[in-house]
Amino acid sequence: MFVWGSGWKTIDLAVTGKQPCATCEKDRPFHVYLKYRYVHIYYLFKWVSERHYLRACEICSRGVELDKSQLQASVPISKDPIPFMDRLGWTIGLAILGALLLVPYLIEKFPS
Ligand SMILES: [Zn+2]
Repeated sequence: MFVWGSGWKTIDLAVTGKQPCATCEKDRPFHVYLKYRYVHIYYLFKWVSERHYLRACEICSRGVELDKSQLQASVPISKDPIPFMDRLGWTIGLAILGALLLVPYLIEKFPS
């Protein structure tokens, strides 16, 4: 059976302060969120297929998408906030697969 799928996750990067929210019609705390989509095969081979940076209201989650320059102005990001296994899980899967393929070769090459 071939197992694959995808999902969305959201990471709260920072609070940018209070500002008026058009939906709530009040001053609300706004956050910068990173919303990303990951794709997986057998839950191990994972990679990120989409990223969106958003400035959104804490209460109603309405807001605007930020481009890279707006993002750097509001939240300087030094390292990728997406967890390693969601970004580069496919490299671990590949390493395990490579090791499994290597074992029969090594057994044949170096018999005990
Ligand atoms: Zn709001």
